[in-house]
Amino acid sequence: MSARQLTLACIAALALAWGFLPEFTLTVMSYIGLYALVAAGLVMLTGVGGMTSFGQAAFVGLGAYATAWVCTSPLAAAWLPAGFPPALLPLVGLALGLLATYAVARFLGAVTLRLSGHYLPLGTIAWGLSLYYVFGNLDVLGGFTGMSGLPPLTVAGFSLASPLYLGPLIWAVLLFCLWALHNLLDSREGRAIRALKGGRVMAESMGVDTAHYRIKLFVLAALLAAISGWLYAHLQRFVNPTPFNINIGIEYLFMAVVGGAGHLWGAVLGAALITLLKEQLQDWLPKLLGASGNFEVIVFGLLMLFVLQRFADGLWPRLQAASGRWLKPEVRRVGAAAAVTLQQRVLPPAGQVLLDARQVSRRFGGLLANNNVNMSLKAHEVHALIGPNGAGKSTFFNMISGVDEPTSGEVRLMEQPMQGRPSREFAALGLGRTFQHVRLLGQRSVLENVALGAHRRGRKGWIASMLRLDRAEEAAILAEARRQIERCGLAEYIDRPAASLALGQQRVVEIARALAGQPAALLLDEPAAGLRHLEKQALASLLDQLRSEGLGILVVEHDMEFVMNLADRITVLEFGEVIAEGTPAEVQANPRVLEAYLGGELNGGGL
Ligand code: ADP
Ligand code: MG
Repeated sequence: MSARQLTLACIAALALAWGFLPEFTLTVMSYIGLYALVAAGLVMLTGVGGMTSFGQAAFVGLGAYATAWVCTSPLAAAWLPAGFPPALLPLVGLALGLLATYAVARFLGAVTLRLSGHYLPLGTIAWGLSLYYVFGNLDVLGGFTGMSGLPPLTVAGFSLASPLYLGPLIWAVLLFCLWALHNLLDSREGRAIRALKGGRVMAESMGVDTAHYRIKLFVLAALLAAISGWLYAHLQRFVNPTPFNINIGIEYLFMAVVGGAGHLWGAVLGAALITLLKEQLQDWLPKLLGASGNFEVIVFGLLMLFVLQRFADGLWPRLQAASGRWLKPEVRRVGAAAAVTLQQRVLPPAGQVLLDARQVSRRFGGLLANNNVNMSLKAHEVHALIGPNGAGKSTFFNMISGVDEPTSGEVRLMEQPMQGRPSREFAALGLGRTFQHVRLLGQRSVLENVALGAHRRGRKGWIASMLRLDRAEEAAILAEARRQIERCGLAEYIDRPAASLALGQQRVVEIARALAGQPAALLLDEPAAGLRHLEKQALASLLDQLRSEGLGILVVEHDMEFVMNLADRITVLEFGEVIAEGTPAEVQANPRVLEAYLGGELNGGGL
């Protein structure tokens, strides 16, 4: 049995058993479904995207109050056309709830997400706190007593008035959303979302507009919460502010984290565990202690601490590992290498200047890390940038890749001035790069990491990915990634988590990732560091081949033998200034260069 078959079997069993379960169980199951929907949004936001929100309960409230207002307020009735069918009111409520949530989440996201660090969690706390009081103090929304008399949902004239009938709808919505989110994660857009956790610089270099993706993810999680709120309102047939306060927001976060914040099914597990646990504690603790009171809150808190301390990744991964022994591993079905062709770049002719740095300076306080550096990279050549530690190579590298801005001077890429442009625009113009300190998604496979490099070459968006309308394009992207992995000699590691490779190999994965973006100019920061002799030779022949295909390659490298054998031209930096430029032979004969290296590395490097 595979995990997929087991999932389907569980769903079928639940469906078959539903009619025979007692009313109370059905109610609890319905609530678990509602909570899991919110927690699934948090899994995407927190576990996958790395953003924390305490305010999801308030979005649930927006969804619930919107439909309550539409269905019960005389004001809403006055706005709708006369004779509007009452059975459709909940749908209007849903539409209003989603619209309001979209607007609020967009606004909140725009305000808080651009700021770094703790602003988002703080922003969501403020939002969660304030909306509770807004609900409670607005007379049109019934104040703290709330609004009652909501109609049940109806489907084709059939009323879903009890958990027996509404529960299946709740679970159908939940399962559909889980399926869509699962598809989203398993796509080009999903890789971009996961890249958010790999840091802004890496994701942007792959062409991902990180600010935009963060806002979209925040809105997505909020919309899921609002849908949950809509269903909740029609299950309860009554809303008041209590279930939407900040405590409940924290509980949702617990559900996602306890279940396993990186796993969609963890949301269901977490929602089920916490709901059942609270239920049981409320029953047992007063009997046990012989007194009534909110003891469950205290015990609950302690249990949370224990779980988070013992199982930092949540419980789902444990369950997965335990079941791994008797579940067949999922076989990745590779689609026919598709009719879709990815965007192709026409490489510039040999000798054309790709990247041009003119009089580039960078000042850090009193330190001049780069001083009027000139350098140009042409198509069809390997250009090496060398210099002792602290010479300013990485500083320069950052400025020609859009990570940092020159204090003065100009960087041009493909003849375009790049002043003030983010690194994703460098990527779009044909710049590929690797990082001195490897930046891969360690838990993801080599294939997925490399496929991220081709992000910009695909077009399908979130909705298409969720509905699996991107399969042909996705197959083309994966085929491209596979091709680059093979040519870089990493075929045997393709399905391994990137972090399990030796550091030197991880650098080569970064090269493959850059190549998947089909760059015209390739910037490599110490690509040979950590490679063994034979691996260096393989890397050198790969770079040689890329050069013959027409790429311009800039390498920052310490290994002098590697550099001297490979480079067409060399620029030498010392204390932020260019002290020599020329062919390897010219540079090696230059007295200033010899002096800078104190005759050490240059001669000792096997030359
Ligand atoms: P290299 O890569 O050649 O070893 P770097 O470009 O990393 O050299 O550093 C050049 C100089 O600039 C060093 O003295 C370093 O301490 C300084 N430097 C680099 N980045 C920063 C920064 N963000 N803030 C302050 N000083 C920096
Ligand atoms: Mg450096």
